[in-house]
Amino acid sequence: MTSTAQHLTTALDGQWAKVRQDVRRQLSRPEFAPHYTPNTLIARTKVNEQLRLLAAEKVAEPGFRTESGGTGDPGAAVTMIEMLAMSDLSLMVKAGVQWGLFGGAIENLGTTRHHEAYIRPLIELELPGCFAMTETGHGSDVQSIETTATYDPTTKEFVIDSPTESATKNYIGGAAETARTAAVFAQLITAGPGEEPTGHGVHCLVVPIRDADGTDLPGVTTSDHGYKGGLPGVDNGRIAFHGVRVPKDNLLNRFADVADDGTYSSSIENPNRRFFTMLGTLVRGRVTVGGAAGAAAQVALTIAVRYGLERRQFHNTDTGEEVVIMDYLSHQRRLLPLVARSYALRFAQNELVTRMADIQSRSDVDATEQRELEGRAAGLKAANTWHASRAIQEAREACGGAGYMAENRLIGLRADTDVFTTFEGDNVVLSQLVAKELLTAYADEVRSRDAIGWIKFAASTVGDEVMKRTAAAPFIQTLLDTRQDNEEEGSLFNRGTQIKMLEDREEYLIYTAAMRLRAADKRLESQFEAFNFVQDHILHVAQAHIERVELEAFVAAIERCEDPPAKEILEDLCDLYALDVIAADRAWFIEHRFISTERAKAVTRGLNERCRTLRPHARILVDGFGVPEAMLDAPMLTDD
Ligand SMILES: Cc1cc2nc3c(=O)[nH]c(=O)nc-3n(C[C@H](O)[C@H](O)[C@H](O)COP(=O)(O)OP(=O)(O)OC[C@H]3O[C@@H](n4cnc5c(N)ncnc54)[C@H](O)[C@@H]3O)c2cc1C
Repeated sequence: MTSTAQHLTTALDGQWAKVRQDVRRQLSRPEFAPHYTPNTLIARTKVNEQLRLLAAEKVAEPGFRTESGGTGDPGAAVTMIEMLAMSDLSLMVKAGVQWGLFGGAIENLGTTRHHEAYIRPLIELELPGCFAMTETGHGSDVQSIETTATYDPTTKEFVIDSPTESATKNYIGGAAETARTAAVFAQLITAGPGEEPTGHGVHCLVVPIRDADGTDLPGVTTSDHGYKGGLPGVDNGRIAFHGVRVPKDNLLNRFADVADDGTYSSSIENPNRRFFTMLGTLVRGRVTVGGAAGAAAQVALTIAVRYGLERRQFHNTDTGEEVVIMDYLSHQRRLLPLVARSYALRFAQNELVTRMADIQSRSDVDATEQRELEGRAAGLKAANTWHASRAIQEAREACGGAGYMAENRLIGLRADTDVFTTFEGDNVVLSQLVAKELLTAYADEVRSRDAIGWIKFAASTVGDEVMKRTAAAPFIQTLLDTRQDNEEEGSLFNRGTQIKMLEDREEYLIYTAAMRLRAADKRLESQFEAFNFVQDHILHVAQAHIERVELEAFVAAIERCEDPPAKEILEDLCDLYALDVIAADRAWFIEHRFISTERAKAVTRGLNERCRTLRPHARILVDGFGVPEAMLDAPMLTDD
């Protein structure tokens, strides 16, 4: 690897570079060599062996607080699981379910008694678990799940039931075979003395589901989903409960509790707020899934670019030589903007992990900070996973027939990442969460002004509250202040101009969404109808916001880079990212008169120009991703 590529790796690795290096070393062991097989028996056996190897090395400890038996480094925990995606996404998912979701639910929703009983055993894999939230009837709408946990004061137990067929827990990772215990989300029903039984909304309980031999416990019925669209190493399954009794202590009671006599109490009065507070503590899973999809995209792009630099097709009539396919402009246009977006996403993801680690290590987190973190995690999860689907498919096509051979990894990566757009929150649903967060901030900003202030505000800007920068704020302001905005082609390569274009798009979209919502709210019967009326607009808000965040993170990363050649490459790559984003939304920019048709054509010319500038650095760019050589063991890259 050249020193420039190493500097790019340093820029991409971010704060938890040491963890990334440690995992790279782990993955370079023969036991973690990529091994694609659709055979679920072989794949599950292999992944379980790998998981045990990782557990023996205590890799999960950083994910848990020292008081619980961990080492308290959530950023390291997320980074570790994310890096496993470079080897095998089934392994990443199994680790994510065991330590991130199952462990995360116990750590964040439980109290000392749960931490003492479960955390060490689950770190060491003595207690394999699963995270049972989704049901056949309800996936995205978790608040409507039907499983019940009814308190029985005579025995001081909860009785867990699946009252209908659609209440069956569905798709649950680990439920088919390995999990002995489940973190079960259920509607909690209880009655204090002299009260009628009342539902208090969704809560989480620890429920044993299998004995040591793997047999379902009485009242529990599990089944296996078998063959899926990918992730053959993950044993996804269903769980139904019929009168399953667990001690009262199994309620994860950090936010709400039930007294022996059945009296319900909670530190959070409002049931809606309680539900979202509980779910908010589980944000780590979403952060990990986004990062892992990004890592998988990096592997695929590394393979495709390397292949593109070796593969030759057709003769150059001038030289008589066969052309390396990476020399075709179309090939550059297919792959290099995706490489640029991978960089942008990684930089934004690094900022997110830093922010998450900071917030999760503090006790004084206010609601706005938490809400912003959740919005950012949702947005980057959607952006990373959609990017992975697109990039891996393009990488596959860019390798022609060879790309379709399982031994060359791409079809496995594609099949395995497909569902990342759905689990840990469906991307469309998450995008709406991002937009709602922005509109709430906007409404807060509007509410805090008097009438004249509001008119001025509405006429000028969306306000600092919404356009909050996370990265290198003063530096970005300088770029904006010193930009030369004109119709000249060169100004499209001006960073200030690029930032301004993405900021203007976001501001305009938020402002007009708010205006349309207000108008629709007056005109239509319900808030639901009003929101649904502008839903396409809302999704565009989320996309514009996340792309602006990515660009700013990219700019901040360039600023931090200390190696001049690496910095120069990053500058060009950032141009490519910005122009690609603008080109993809060219119709909107023209329709709303943010750019002329002439300038839109210049964007395309700019894209081609940057592809040409970056072509000589294609190998360095993908080497910068730092994918271990052992993960790139694709015969098409080594065959003559
Ligand atoms: C392989 C796999 C592993 C999984 N592992 C687990 C696990 O371990 N534990 C667990 O609890 N769950 C797990 N899940 C469940 C997963 O989290 C859900 O599938 C996911 O939340 C989506 O729910 P759903 O499948 O019911 O889809 P739905 O919510 O029914 O969505 C279907 C479609 O409707 C659209 N849609 C839904 N609501 C709206 C709306 N308001 N506006 C516009 N469009 C909308 C969505 O975009 C989507 O395209 C897993 C799923 C899979 C496939």
